[in-house]
Amino acid sequence: MSQLYTYKMPTELFFGRGAAMHTAEKVRELGSDNVVIVTDQGVYASGVLKTIEESLQAGNVTYSIYHDVEPEPTYKGVDEAVKLLKETKATAVIGVGGGSSMDTAKNVAVMGTNEGKIFDYLGFGNIKNKPLPIIAVPTTAGTGSEVTFWAVVGDKEKDIKASVGGWEIMPDTAILDPELTLSVPSHVTAATGMDAFCHAMESYVSKATQPVSEGLSYHAMRLIAGALRKAATRGDDIDAREDMLMGSLIAALAFNVGKLGLSHAFAMPLGAKYKIPHGMVNAIMLPWVMEYNLPAATEKYIEVAKLLGEHVEGLSPMEAAAKSVEAVKRLNADIGITQGLKDWGVKEEELLEIAQKAYQSGNIYSNPRSSRVEDLVEIAKKAMKGL
Ligand code: NAD
Repeated sequence: MSQLYTYKMPTELFFGRGAAMHTAEKVRELGSDNVVIVTDQGVYASGVLKTIEESLQAGNVTYSIYHDVEPEPTYKGVDEAVKLLKETKATAVIGVGGGSSMDTAKNVAVMGTNEGKIFDYLGFGNIKNKPLPIIAVPTTAGTGSEVTFWAVVGDKEKDIKASVGGWEIMPDTAILDPELTLSVPSHVTAATGMDAFCHAMESYVSKATQPVSEGLSYHAMRLIAGALRKAATRGDDIDAREDMLMGSLIAALAFNVGKLGLSHAFAMPLGAKYKIPHGMVNAIMLPWVMEYNLPAATEKYIEVAKLLGEHVEGLSPMEAAAKSVEAVKRLNADIGITQGLKDWGVKEEELLEIAQKAYQSGNIYSNPRSSRVEDLVEIAKKAMKGL
């Protein structure tokens, strides 16, 4: 019996070199002429806002800038930016940056029209009033937050990292301009690029994948595998930057419906307590999660091995699938990711608690191989040591 599938994507995608020069047009199309830009200090200092500001000035759009979003952002940035939004009577929000800035912008848009605190809206489908219009402008090629229905928010004192979710916080417009990613430092390009690759890979093998997301996952892996080494080692290679931005976008179009796996289950507790950047957690965990998953999705991993240029002729199915693990380890090493969890301060005796917290993630259920907390402990043990 054939299954029923749905694929919905309400966000307008505006992609290409120079796309940011059209920001004012996109603001006006959403009925606003007064916006708050939400970003972080690194993005602000890099000068990538210049094109956006020039466009807003030329288009007579009033704007103010909040540039203090923290990495692994918290409610604090949301509260401060909402204060600016209310003071300036802005009617739309533009998130410019990586996932930290875009997620904060999405949460600011929620709090522009809803009462209380952002933590009142955690989980999926709990937003009451339609948020303000949101434009997302990614400047890292990683999270794909410009087209997802999640926005992460944390509380550093309480080691909380959680998400607000709902169709309402899908950005109205995503402006993807590869030129804005040229200034991303090599180590950030590497980690965020592996986040995008992990999205593509985990959604490809996920139990929740469906024909549309599976095709998107496969294409995203192809683009990222072809471009990440160049983007991370030759930051000025605009062709590689463009493929990375397209790859991270398409990976998110896939995982938004196809869901993720165990690497992402680990990302929340490891990000919350140890402040390991999100992409770095995924890069460290992915090979060990793949190794664990091989028996449950062998044919898929053989396809991944082939896509990554491995020769699998004459090998048994498990040997061929295992080539994908070696290829991902090599990719990590080539872009400078050689650390293990130990290098980020994780202690062996803390692994059980980490595994228990990871086990609360919904990604446990979409991972291709069923798991127990003990299995997660064993995977994390292997990830303690670097490459
Ligand atoms: P990030 O937003 O924290 O940015 C990383 C660093 O890169 C920052 O220091 C920033 O200043 C710098 N940077 C960004 N663009 C730059 C540029 N063009 N030039 C110079 N420096 C630049 O990192 P991220 O990995 O993009 O986002 C991580 C966050 O996104 C985490 O909180 C993660 O949980 C979340 N996330 C959200 C989703 C979602 O669907 N909403 C998906 C995955 C991850």
